[in-house]
Amino acid sequence: MKTSNRVTLKATNGESSEGLGGRYGDFVFDSVNSCWLNDGMSEGAVSGTPGYLLDLIRRRSPITRAELASATGLARSTIAQRVDALIVEGLVGDVGEAASTGGRPPTMLGFNATSGVVLVADLGATHSRLAVCDLDANPLAESCRDIDIAEGPDAILTWVLETFVLLTAEAGRTDGDIRGVGIGVPGPVDFIAGRAVHPPIMPGWDDYPIRDRFIERYRVPILVDNDVNIMALGEYWAMSPKVADLIFVKVGTGIGSGLIVGGRLHRGARGAAGDIGHIQAGPADVMCRCGNPGCLEASAGGAAIARDLRARGYEASGSRDIVALVQAGNYEAIQAVRDAGRLIGSVLSATVNLLNPAVISIGGDVAEAGQQLLAGIRETVYRRSTALSTSDLQITTGTLGDRAGIIGAAALIIEHVFDPEAVDASLVGANNGGGS
Ligand SMILES: [Zn+2]
Repeated sequence: MKTSNRVTLKATNGESSEGLGGRYGDFVFDSVNSCWLNDGMSEGAVSGTPGYLLDLIRRRSPITRAELASATGLARSTIAQRVDALIVEGLVGDVGEAASTGGRPPTMLGFNATSGVVLVADLGATHSRLAVCDLDANPLAESCRDIDIAEGPDAILTWVLETFVLLTAEAGRTDGDIRGVGIGVPGPVDFIAGRAVHPPIMPGWDDYPIRDRFIERYRVPILVDNDVNIMALGEYWAMSPKVADLIFVKVGTGIGSGLIVGGRLHRGARGAAGDIGHIQAGPADVMCRCGNPGCLEASAGGAAIARDLRARGYEASGSRDIVALVQAGNYEAIQAVRDAGRLIGSVLSATVNLLNPAVISIGGDVAEAGQQLLAGIRETVYRRSTALSTSDLQITTGTLGDRAGIIGAAALIIEHVFDPEAVDASLVGANNGGGS
């Protein structure tokens, strides 16, 4: 495992609270593993290359040159030279003056989050959301569409590429502004290869080179991950203060989870971690789309709840209909969602005993049913998990709603692009100096 790509995120003082870039505690980001680590100052942060200075500026903006010198131990002349290189690149700018302590007040430096954009897609089973985001992961232009992932990679990715062009124009940007592309898909992903692997609800996508399709069009870094992983990263990105151990659960058509363990997105040995939807939990006579009987999502996913409500005579084709019935106060729908929550809770109680998270965050379409689903989950988790593991456990709905995926995809690619070593390499490539 590569460990050198670590940079320190220091707590901000709240002055840079616009956007999401300031919402960090004392965490360290490991871009190789797409995670924040709470292990204090890293050796990299004090090496003071332009890439690390940019990182300090991103995390601690606004900051003065003197503060950068103090944080890195570098001479002010060296700081000035390296900051100038970042200013020339448009990544850093003056954001005002600090209070004077006598004499001329020092200039405050800030990260220029508008100096570029990232293109992101959160592809779901039946609907997808695309966006152009600034470099603080704030959406500038968005598009949603009901589209079945089973239409296959050619149809879906052609639509994504065409929509990216339209959204880029809508945001008033050009191809030259695009820094990276982040894609989430509703199935298991080989993160290194950028391909889906035996995705159960994505016929035609198995081993399809998703990343290559974008590389043909955009010569920038491109990352592809599981949709639930990016949602977990999104909720984690937006979290303040952060906790190191978080389980994000998506309850949509199916059920999946993203695990933040010790401040690290836990993908597992082959990227399959967190697939709680196919843990056996429900009645053995209910077959799952994966081919096994009794999977959690075969009884508690949005598709399963809708199926059960249809059997009782309701018009319910999916998660939205379920939520509408619950919000209208329909008793049977409320009971169905509560029962689903209890079953999800039974699997989560085992997960809680195993991982002892501080927060379980619930998202996905069915989570729009809010308290009914949470009540069922809480009931089982608090009853079935150990007293110590639940003593401070919070079970709550996510804060980003249906934007968790695009914001997480943006966070994923932004942290990759602004990895200090990557920034240093690009500055060297642009003949602007660099190195330490
Ligand atoms: Zn299954």
